[in-house]
Amino acid sequence: MPRETIKAKSARLKKIVRALDRTYPEAHCELDHADPLQLLIATILSAQCTDKRVNLVTTELFKKYRSAADFANAPLAELEQAVRTTGFFRNKARNIQACGAALVEKFGGEVPRTMEELHALAGVGRKTANVVLGNAFGINVGVVVDTHVARLSQRLGLTRQKGPEKIESELMALVPQKQWTLFSHWLIWHGRRRCYARKPDCANCEIKKLCPQIGVKKN
Ligand code: SF4
Repeated sequence: MPRETIKAKSARLKKIVRALDRTYPEAHCELDHADPLQLLIATILSAQCTDKRVNLVTTELFKKYRSAADFANAPLAELEQAVRTTGFFRNKARNIQACGAALVEKFGGEVPRTMEELHALAGVGRKTANVVLGNAFGINVGVVVDTHVARLSQRLGLTRQKGPEKIESELMALVPQKQWTLFSHWLIWHGRRRCYARKPDCANCEIKKLCPQIGVKKN
């Protein structure tokens, strides 16, 4: 693909956004949660795991542990057992317990609303903090870059970067801030339903005309 001017890329991005909004008007975070604490725990569990599996696990987990103090006081072995099927369960259980303790100690059991405070919690990186801020509080401080967002941003020619933080900075410069949270939902939904990692369904893609299909193998 020849280099595109910033102006041309912004105009193309606007069209992509319009088409994805039309295609997925109901796009939302697919991790089940009823409050910010549940979203925080579900997002910690979602590392290297599908949302579907996390939702199965949290259906039971959230019946038993209802507050930050419950997670802080849970015996580690019990927590490990409860989150075992999400993978990396020892780490995740330890982080959830430590996270619950920090919430109780520093924030009166509530989930804080800033990137800095969230980022300082155990097991919470920039991506998790972005998920919580955007979806639990409606605060757009960044763009969630998961495997789908990274793959689609590259295929769509929105970035040449590979690392999530660099991809995020480029997307933040391109996408209007008020759409940051939704934009990642649109890409994630499109990645799960059309632009698959192995065999993207380009023939039926709703944004085919706007996509240079970078790195996609033609059959
Ligand atoms: S045209 Fe193909 S590569 Fe581009 S977004 Fe659609 S499915 Fe993905």
